Amino acid sequence: MYLQKTIQKIVQCSGIGLHSGGPVNLRLVPAPINTGITFIRKTTQGPVPVKVDGTKVVGTLLCTTIGENGTKVQTVEHLLAALSGLQITNLIIELDSAELPIMDGSAKPFVDLILNAGIQEQGVPQPFIKITRPVDVRDGGKWIRIRPSWKFRVNCTIRFDHPLLAHQSCSFEPISEDFVEWIAPARTFGFLEEVEALRNHGLARGGSLENAVVVGPDGVLNKEGLRYADEFVRHKILDILGDLSLLGMPILGEVEAYCSGHQLNTKLVSEILCSTDCWTMIKDRPSAVPTPSPIDSKIAAQV
Ligand SMILES: [Zn+2]
Repeated sequence: MYLQKTIQKIVQCSGIGLHSGGPVNLRLVPAPINTGITFIRKTTQGPVPVKVDGTKVVGTLLCTTIGENGTKVQTVEHLLAALSGLQITNLIIELDSAELPIMDGSAKPFVDLILNAGIQEQGVPQPFIKITRPVDVRDGGKWIRIRPSWKFRVNCTIRFDHPLLAHQSCSFEPISEDFVEWIAPARTFGFLEEVEALRNHGLARGGSLENAVVVGPDGVLNKEGLRYADEFVRHKILDILGDLSLLGMPILGEVEAYCSGHQLNTKLVSEILCSTDCWTMIKDRPSAVPTPSPIDSKIAAQV
């Protein structure tokens, strides 16, 4: 039986927003059963709640933004991925800015924060969304789809016009310990020539080699190099976990993504929520069958 979970005590961290470049303080607060994940933005008019669910997406340009009644919370995906990977189902997230801190560009600092708080099982079964019929969304040659399965597994392939990222493919079944080891540390990334263009659009103001992998014509500019040879596709899986958690409930199904980003990921969430004949809510799921290989990765040279 999968039980609902929150954290054992309040924890906090500070950082800067990747796109705003501004400071932000974040506090994670335990929440009661059946309340889900709720952001609370502190504003001059007082605290404003923005509950996580698939109807709240208001922006997907380079990050995922949710909002309610004009109050926005930007770059939610990495913290939501950490919560998904650790199976935290009830939590209040307080912040004093419109954008979450980027930390090191991965979900690891959030994972460490949550593990430091301790995870609290709450004695009540966690319902799941069980996919019963395939759902596909597509944008030209890019796509993401989900098929019925009693497991949650994400298969992701990326291709870029750069020798380092010509073709990376990775398949992952998120189970807490494996998520912490194999996916959470994968950092966000960008190409050097894009940085100037992003800044001209008022984005990535807080971006640096401290919080993103930057790829130049001759390779990675970060002195420390990559955390995994396929860190890029692992980060895309991290983003998918974060974006799919906008469903407001864990999901059972097999995801296949080809070059998808926040726009397609969140479109899949909307499509699932709209297509009520393609899923059913189950009160409990069978215990996970141990998987011999939770992660399976392939990197191919430019073809
Ligand atoms: Zn990301």
